[in-house]
Amino acid sequence: MKTTLTFPIHKTKNSKLPETDFSNLVFGRTISDHMFVADYKNGEWTDLSVEEYKPLELNPANATLHYGQSIFEGMKAYRTSDGKISVFRGDANWARLNESAERMCMPTLPEEIFMEGLMQLLELDRDWVPTANGASLYVRPFMFATDDYIGVKPSETYKFMIFTCPVGMYYSKPVSVKVETKFTRATEGGTGYAKTAGNYAASLYPALQAQKAGYDQLLWTDGKNHSQIEESGTMNVMFKINGKLITAPTHTGTILKGITRDSVIQLAKDWGEPLEERFLGIKELEEALKSGDLEEAFGTGTAATIAHIERIHVNGTDYYLPEKGSDAFSNRVLRELDGIKYGELPDPHGWIIKI
Ligand code: PMP
Repeated sequence: MKTTLTFPIHKTKNSKLPETDFSNLVFGRTISDHMFVADYKNGEWTDLSVEEYKPLELNPANATLHYGQSIFEGMKAYRTSDGKISVFRGDANWARLNESAERMCMPTLPEEIFMEGLMQLLELDRDWVPTANGASLYVRPFMFATDDYIGVKPSETYKFMIFTCPVGMYYSKPVSVKVETKFTRATEGGTGYAKTAGNYAASLYPALQAQKAGYDQLLWTDGKNHSQIEESGTMNVMFKINGKLITAPTHTGTILKGITRDSVIQLAKDWGEPLEERFLGIKELEEALKSGDLEEAFGTGTAATIAHIERIHVNGTDYYLPEKGSDAFSNRVLRELDGIKYGELPDPHGWIIKI
């Protein structure tokens, strides 16, 4: 992407790099030196800059704190063997941010600001991209309302920011999940497809109940009948039954359109794997678990890329899935995606920007 954007870059004099232990990273706790900032006022994006990562000053009447106009993205940058940085499908994150913005009555962001802000930030903090196997730099773009005003209406001013966190390998072990039939994450006409803060706040209580019962995550079901699988906490989910991959469609607006999900679908199509984008009924899932027709179940998402599911709780029963061999689809697609992201395999779909 060619750009004509220029903006100030204020480099910190107090880098936290020397005191950072890259061999002991807790997801989301270590934050790199700099952040990108842009403000929206008088109907336009302005005051772009890269600055030292530091606290924000916030008025107690800040609209986000009260009414939750807040959206975010999650993506990753990877260290390649030639020392470069590879950014995976940033344009897709930009597009999804804008879909969320429209739903939450927030201004959209020009692609140039998103991509150039990201590139300048990564360039300045390139030494924060970890080199260890399976490690990466998690990138958090987000936007929130900044009007200081009490009253339910869209804010007139906003802030867009990006900061980054070096992270180690995520979810290295398979996960256990519980099919949720009481609580609801999203309903048709709601905000399920938007990556907005309230969706995550609403999921905390049900997820905590599942964790107390011994499960890592929930499998959400539809809000109307709780009869079909939608997605998981921060992952879309896929099942392989009798040789066929099945994953929930996105047209109902209740599911986050995962970029990993889209990439896995694309690769499955490239490889001629039978795939159906349709809802999987809980009954069908239960039958496939009982009969052994369920060959694979896994989550797809930026944090883990692929998270194997080893145990599923449905209607009072725990079903265990056997460990997957290296030729299982989930493992092949994980190797392929890792290969593309870390620059070790060709990138036929143009998913990578290298800097
Ligand atoms: N569903 C939800 C609710 C999520 O938060 C995420 C993480 N962004 C995903 C699915 C997976 O999306 P992606 O593959 O883009 O990370």
